[in-house]
Amino acid sequence: MHSTASDGALSPAELVARAAEASIRYLALTDHDTLAGLNEARVEAVRQGIQFIPGVELTCRWHKRTLHLLGLGIDPEYEGWREYEARLQRLREQRAETIAFKLRGKRAPDDILERARTHAGRGQIGRPHFARALLEAGVVSTENEAFDRYLGQGKVGDVKAEWPDVAEAIAIVQASGGKAILAHPTKYRMTFSRLRLLLSALAEAGADGFEIGYPGISQDYIRLLLKQAEVLDMQVSSGSDFHNPEHHWTGLGRFPRVETSRHLIHQFYTDMPL
Ligand code: AMP
Ligand code: MN
Repeated sequence: MHSTASDGALSPAELVARAAEASIRYLALTDHDTLAGLNEARVEAVRQGIQFIPGVELTCRWHKRTLHLLGLGIDPEYEGWREYEARLQRLREQRAETIAFKLRGKRAPDDILERARTHAGRGQIGRPHFARALLEAGVVSTENEAFDRYLGQGKVGDVKAEWPDVAEAIAIVQASGGKAILAHPTKYRMTFSRLRLLLSALAEAGADGFEIGYPGISQDYIRLLLKQAEVLDMQVSSGSDFHNPEHHWTGLGRFPRVETSRHLIHQFYTDMPL
């Protein structure tokens, strides 16, 4: 799940409190490129009696593609995180300036960067904050339209950055005691054969597994990915990727059901005291 530490709508404590209301028992906070929400979430999780899994969703690169790598069960105090987070923050800040410059060349107002920064607050700035800024400025009438026309893959605001290589992301997650899990494999617009290549490259690189149960994935794809997990001897994970109560296509703790013994939650139950 995501909080205001990155592009989520709820503060870490609010998120955990709502999760408790929804009877969620296991919650991983996985903000994009930041651990800033983890302490607050952990305190509230203890208060609410929820098992808290400290996490992060790292933006990284595989050849020319941008990927999201989840770190689940990381130690936020691991010393390497400070520099790694600072590096990602610099990249996001530089990228935001470029995005703003490009959007100004379209129909965005001059203060688009300031508006996006306001939406990001003290959290990591990203394209969703620009989507909100474009909506607020009346350039588009929904955040989805902002992605469709300006921010989505291949559009003017889809600015690439020199994200760390996926091997670096795997390394820091595992060095800090976490499981390195590829987030939402079907959301990178790859053909299935390319995706298979990616999954075996990740297995080769020592990643622990990949997500298979998340909003938007079909049961057919779940089956295909499960097969790959067996072949590659990797673990699988599920999550709601929850960002915002107003996004009706994702619900707190809601994701497609997956029946398998490979599931990471079993690992957390059995060999990870939380
Ligand atoms: P960033 O990390 O700044 O590149 O922003 C990536 C985030 O933007 C993703 O985690 C999604 O939450 C959101 N996003 C990306 N593409 C779309 C899209 N086509 N429509 C809506 N949201 C999107
Ligand atoms: Mn993601």
